[in-house]
Amino acid sequence: MLSLNKIFTRLKKNRSSKNSHSDSQKGGPLIIARPDHNISRKHISSAALKVLYGLKDAGFDAYLVGGCVRDLLLGYEPKDFDVATNASPEQVHKVFRRSRLIGRRFKLVHVRYGREVIEVATFRAPPEIEQHIDEQGRIVQDNVFGTLEQDAWRRDFTINALYYNIRDFSIVDFTGGLADLKAKNIRLIGHVETRYREDPVRMLRALRFVGKLDLELDDETERWIPKLAHLLADIPAARLFDETLKLYLSGDAAVTHELLVDYGVFDILFPQAAALMDEDEDDVHTLLTKALENTDQRIDEGKPVTPAFLFAALLWEPVNQLWQHYQAKNISVIPALQKAAAEVLAEQVQRVAIPKRYSIVSKDIWVLQPRLTMRQGKRAIRLVQHPKFRAGYDFLLLRSETGEPLTELAEWWTAFQVVAEDEQQKMVQALPATGRKPRRRRRGKKPVAKSE
Ligand code: ATP
Ligand code: MG
Repeated sequence: MLSLNKIFTRLKKNRSSKNSHSDSQKGGPLIIARPDHNISRKHISSAALKVLYGLKDAGFDAYLVGGCVRDLLLGYEPKDFDVATNASPEQVHKVFRRSRLIGRRFKLVHVRYGREVIEVATFRAPPEIEQHIDEQGRIVQDNVFGTLEQDAWRRDFTINALYYNIRDFSIVDFTGGLADLKAKNIRLIGHVETRYREDPVRMLRALRFVGKLDLELDDETERWIPKLAHLLADIPAARLFDETLKLYLSGDAAVTHELLVDYGVFDILFPQAAALMDEDEDDVHTLLTKALENTDQRIDEGKPVTPAFLFAALLWEPVNQLWQHYQAKNISVIPALQKAAAEVLAEQVQRVAIPKRYSIVSKDIWVLQPRLTMRQGKRAIRLVQHPKFRAGYDFLLLRSETGEPLTELAEWWTAFQVVAEDEQQKMVQALPATGRKPRRRRRGKKPVAKSE
């Protein structure tokens, strides 16, 4: 594989005989021929190749574009492959039997081969200023087809606007993306403030790429983020949920989270959690930072991660604080926690719409925390069978590792899960008496065998 550096040495040689880079931007794109770059068809998924060739054979232009070209040039394996073409969505749909037209705001085609879905988008023109921008500068309608060049300029960052041409396997660069990749520079295309105002989610994308790709923000691209982060408050909560998952499940959540905090974006996404964060907790291992490190490690090892656990960690501080508050008002332990959880979640989903299927599990994880301290009688044995026991126990471990006085309890559970049943009974019997009143009998039920 050619390294980026090698590509650039070759580029320089080519350029000295042709035009300079800035000239090439005015006079047309910089085109890097196949021998001068490292993208080989070996690294492109067979589904993506079928789509590219299918379009080409039907007489259309077809390019790989976006994150996949960027990642291939950087030597990473792309997460997915996106294709851009001059064929209209309907024409693309006609070429591929297993394809679907999707999207309302802008029509796209999804072409399916086995488990892989390739997204095919028709070249798009930049938004027409008067017609398509609302009073805050956001794009409200964005469905005008355009040329390859227009498609490049309306993309977010220069490094995301590189095209791989299936006709001659060259790379096409209108915006200076290759030079920025070489310089490890994330640069928004065009006037930075305007482009962030058009779509504030670009700020989240910028920080995600810093965390994930180990690149740096260009000065101007960086400078505007703290100034405009507040605009994210107006983005639909469902879209922010999607983006939040990408930010925290990228495999680089620990670094990305720090960036979100530093640039004032975390305040907008998770205001309740942000309000309780210590100013100088940078070096401290909080439950959240530890949870994020564990998440990154699991992703690195190819293990599954559950968003519910992540949200349980992200919102634990506000939930915990409100829980203590309600207990101080004489609400008993579990109802106080349930009330706190419900209130924190209700406020949170206004910014980041965590779906019920996750938040229910986050709540289970929280409610298991006090339940894990109640081990007498048959409770411990029943708790181990709770469907979310493992997550609750992992959460308890995190709390214990980050300073809460729970070491003994955590160790007890660590042992309890793995010993045989008779041993489990002995462990329960050996527990110190709780000094609690015996549990009141539930109405209509037979007395429980005396054990606590
Ligand atoms: P990854 O898939 O690795 O997260 P990506 O850059 O491919 O990164 P996608 O969301 O798959 O991200 O988007 C594909 C491409 O679409 C981008 O590379 C970029 O060119 C363009 N794009 C995505 N989001 C925006 C946006 N908000 N504004 C302008 N262009 C965008
Ligand atoms: Mg992508």
